[in-house]
Formats: sequence, structure tokens, C-alpha cells
Amino acid sequence: MFSIKRLYDLQELDWELSASEVSLTEVRARLEDDSELTAAKARLDHLVAELDKRAPSRREIESSLSQLEERIRAAEQRLYGGAVTNPRELSAAEDERTGLQEQRGDTEDRMLEMMVEIEELQASRDVATERLSRLEADRETEYADLLERQNALAAKLHELRLSRSELTLELPVVALSVYESLLKTRGGHAVAKVERGLCRGCQVALPTGEQQRARSYQGVVQCSSCQRILYVE
Ligand SMILES: [Zn+2]
Repeated sequence: MFSIKRLYDLQELDWELSASEVSLTEVRARLEDDSELTAAKARLDHLVAELDKRAPSRREIESSLSQLEERIRAAEQRLYGGAVTNPRELSAAEDERTGLQEQRGDTEDRMLEMMVEIEELQASRDVATERLSRLEADRETEYADLLERQNALAAKLHELRLSRSELTLELPVVALSVYESLLKTRGGHAVAKVERGLCRGCQVALPTGEQQRARSYQGVVQCSSCQRILYVE
């Protein structure tokens, strides 16, 4: 003689086992998942590379500007220095200066655009750097927490498996095999409580005889509708 309650206890233990296994799998997946950190690093690397790419262009524009300044000064020297007096040469120097001043204007515009672009990139890089260090700190805390949870769950699963094997030793082999096969075919719900004359597994009203047999215990009594093992508390 054994109590059907022990089968119901086994089912509760199996539910707890499954839930703990699911939690452990989730914890392990989160331990391995560095995707957010990887993405933040990639973002920062991208911005740093974009800034590096602009450095040579910026130097090039700066050097063009100083060359232009020099050439403008030279043209002005010819215009106002007094050494040149020939009107045609003076007019050529005037034209040259005007042309150079236009070039300087264009180059200054390019410089300004470049500076605005660089400043925007620097601001984005600073945000990305800050975000990365915050994520790294968060991840460190999260990782330690997850490791702790992983260990606790592994220990809990070990205990549950021990309790399960002890409990199954108490149960008749036939009852256990009916239970195991129903557990597989009935979505993890093999033992159903009987409440107010209903099988709680399928919600169908049980014939009185079936209820009585389940209550008085004449071996394993199965619901005639869903085949689950009936348990009257
Ligand atoms: Zn049923």
C-alpha cells in the first residue's frame, strides 16, 4: 500500500525540478551573453576610427590655409610694399590677391565643416566611452550575481534529484511507470486532483464510482476521460 499523495508529491518535485532546470539554462545563457557589451565596444571603435580618419584631412586643410595666408601676404607685399610700381604688375597682384582670398574663403568653409563634424564625433565618442564603462561595471555586478545564482540552482537541482530518487524508491514500479508515461504524454501533468467531483486535469465531472474508488484507494485510479492518476486530498 502506498499513498497517492506520494505520487502527487513526486509530481510537485518534478515541477520544481523542471522550473529549476529552465532557470539554470536561462542563467547560463545570460552568463554567456556579452552582446550588449560587444555592441557598445564596436560603436566606440567605429567612432574612434572615424575621428582618426579625419585627422589627415584636417592637417591638410590647415596646411593649405597657412600656405594661402603666406601667398596673400606676398601679394599684399607686392601691392603695398612700394617695390612694384608698374600698373600692369600691380593689377596682376591685385587679381592674384582676390583669387587667393576666394580660395581662402572656400578653404575656411571646408575647415569649419570639418571642425563641426569632428566636434560631433568627439561628443558621440565621449557618450560611447561613458556608456561602455557603465556597461562594463554593470556587467561585472551582473556576472557575479549570475554566478551566484548558477551555483545556488546547481546545488538546488542536486538536492531535488536526491529527494526524487529517494521518493521513487518508496513507490511501486508499476505506479511509477504509469506516472512517468503520463508525465510525458500529458504535458507534465500526470496526477490530477479531484475537486467538487471534477478531475482537475481535464475539468470533466467524474462518475461517482470512479470518485469513490479514487477516495478509498483501490490501487492507481485513472480518470476515464484524460487517463490522469486521480488524487483526492
Ligand atoms: Zn481527467
